[in-house]
Amino acid sequence: MTDRPQQFASDNYAGICPEAWAALARANQGSQPAYGEDIWTTRAADGLRSLFGADCEVFFVFNGTAANSLALASLCQSYHSVICAAAAHVETDECGAPEFFSNGSKLLVAPAPDGKLTPQAIRDLATSRSDIHFPKPRVVTITQPTETGLVYSIEEIRAIATVCRSLGLKLHMDGARFAHACAALGCEPADITWRAGVDVLCFGGTKNGMGVGEAVIYFDTALAEDFAYRCKQAGQLASKMRFLSAPWIGMLESGAWLRNALHANACAQKLAAAVAATEGLDLIFAVEANAVFIAAPDAVLDGLRARGWRFYTFIGGGARFMFAWDADPAVIDALTGDLQDLAAGQNLPAPAAKLAAVSG
Ligand SMILES: *Cc1c(COP(=O)(O)O)cnc(C)c1O
Repeated sequence: MTDRPQQFASDNYAGICPEAWAALARANQGSQPAYGEDIWTTRAADGLRSLFGADCEVFFVFNGTAANSLALASLCQSYHSVICAAAAHVETDECGAPEFFSNGSKLLVAPAPDGKLTPQAIRDLATSRSDIHFPKPRVVTITQPTETGLVYSIEEIRAIATVCRSLGLKLHMDGARFAHACAALGCEPADITWRAGVDVLCFGGTKNGMGVGEAVIYFDTALAEDFAYRCKQAGQLASKMRFLSAPWIGMLESGAWLRNALHANACAQKLAAAVAATEGLDLIFAVEANAVFIAAPDAVLDGLRARGWRFYTFIGGGARFMFAWDADPAVIDALTGDLQDLAAGQNLPAPAAKLAAVSG
């Protein structure tokens, strides 16, 4: 068993990118007012407003679970419900935090085999019941890119927003990898958010190269009322806020937010091309952002593990590989080599067994 110098099991295995690190160092000078009253937090929020070309309300929290849960809670009463895809992080990976922070708003899970919500699935679920016994649909949440690595197009988001408007639903976007979606589409951040009808975005900084931190961005600023209190009550108001906000300045002003995502996406394409060209391996989902899901015989997956590769199999049953800002193409080549080697071994009769049969 070798331990690899770099693993692609999660994009959270990566460290802090130089631009975010330098921004932290710059902010680490002298004293500054606490709880977000500092110059760095103002500059970071202004930077996000300028990135989106919108006069939005911006809040900085520690992690994605809190960002999503508090944002959803701010859109709901406890008797409301939130429509999400079956594979949504809010449903499968937040330990009930959205329900907890909303005092019980129920997640309504729409069947979405590839992880993407559709206008039809939303309409079906939202109109399935209208009686007093059913939690009243109030919000739709979509993940951009999805947990399966797919990217909603501008048109798809617009179509979802149109259904939301017609049914009186708010639209929330879990953008833990929002930068990767922008990189994949080559669009302005505004095109897949407020211009398309998104009310609230959770913009992930962590998976984009920061050490910690997500921005909750309200395009419908009326919805942001009292959100700061929710953050404080949930333990998400950083006292030394500048260290949560300053890395955003480094990411935005240097362009690293997009550069990092472009690199991660390109790494996924590199692995995907090799997988597509290898007999015995298949891509489970189209590769559109920084994730690659590989279907392979169990022996190949076991072989990868035996060669020291780490990966998760909780989505789609295959091996998931995720790329971050620091992904090293040489390590991807090594992974590709092992995959091809193991897949080729699958097509041959097992040599030891053959010999034993002949001699026995
Ligand atoms: C990583 C991730 C989050 C945030 O998770 P935390 O561990 O709470 O920071 C949210 N949504 C999606 C889709 C994610 O992949």
